[in-house]
Amino acid sequence: PTAMREGFDPAPKETFDDCGALDTVIEEIQNNFIRPIKYPRVFRDHKLDGIMLYGPPGCGKTQIAKALAHESGASFISVSGPELLDKYVGESERAVRNLFERARMASPCVIFFDEIDALTASRSGSDNSYMDRVVNQLLSELDGIRENSQVFAIGATNRLDLIDQAILRPGRFGISIEIPLPDQAGREAILRVHLRKRNIAMGAEEVATLASDIEGFSGAELADIVKTAHQMASLEAVQRLEALERSGQSNPAEMDSIVLRPITL
Ligand code: ATP
Repeated sequence: PTAMREGFDPAPKETFDDCGALDTVIEEIQNNFIRPIKYPRVFRDHKLDGIMLYGPPGCGKTQIAKALAHESGASFISVSGPELLDKYVGESERAVRNLFERARMASPCVIFFDEIDALTASRSGSDNSYMDRVVNQLLSELDGIRENSQVFAIGATNRLDLIDQAILRPGRFGISIEIPLPDQAGREAILRVHLRKRNIAMGAEEVATLASDIEGFSGAELADIVKTAHQMASLEAVQRLEALERSGQSNPAEMDSIVLRPITL
């Protein structure tokens, strides 16, 4: 039950195909993570560096961390910086230890640290010795990950500049990868992912026009647009069904054609 509370997912369903606009990121993850995991004999005793994903909110950091777990056959535990700190005094260090213990038991396992900046932001303001102890516990757990332990750390932050350099050292979160706001091609790719997931047909030109009308939108906002459009189209279909029912002359074939009709936007 504790595991559930802290975001334990034995097998995330997200795949790299669900991550739009992130092809170069995916390639980097393939080389630094997936291939070494798949071919341990080639990479011999190679300790995998943790990855720090950084960039604005809602652009796919969590999504790609889950996909990475899925694609490498690992389970997934997610925890956020604030959540770790929001414990009784003295409990946070133990929470960090337990987290890694659980990950070892569930290995291969990805531990995803969301909003990790919360753990380190005020570390330099040296009156915060409690935070220091929590961070030191984290560093020592990261250092203690063995070559073949199959525990992998992924961090996420909107504020890379706030992260303590000690955390970003090689062997800890040694690889930083930016997940930026999508550009035009990226927005189109993300829209296509969500249209496909909801089984909605939309022409390439319409997708391109829509994407260019919403410059500056994040992946989360794009997902939301598709969701809203889908919901509106569904409500429209329901209204037509209701009108047919009210007319009292509906026939099953006609009803079916409304229900089964492909949604086009
Ligand atoms: P935060 O910094 O707020 O934690 P995040 O970068 O982790 O944000 P996600 O949680 O991965 O963002 O994205 C939120 C939702 O937005 C996802 O569940 C997905 O539906 C959609 N989304 C975001 N980025 C992408 C993307 N690149 N491709 C497809 N969907 C995306």
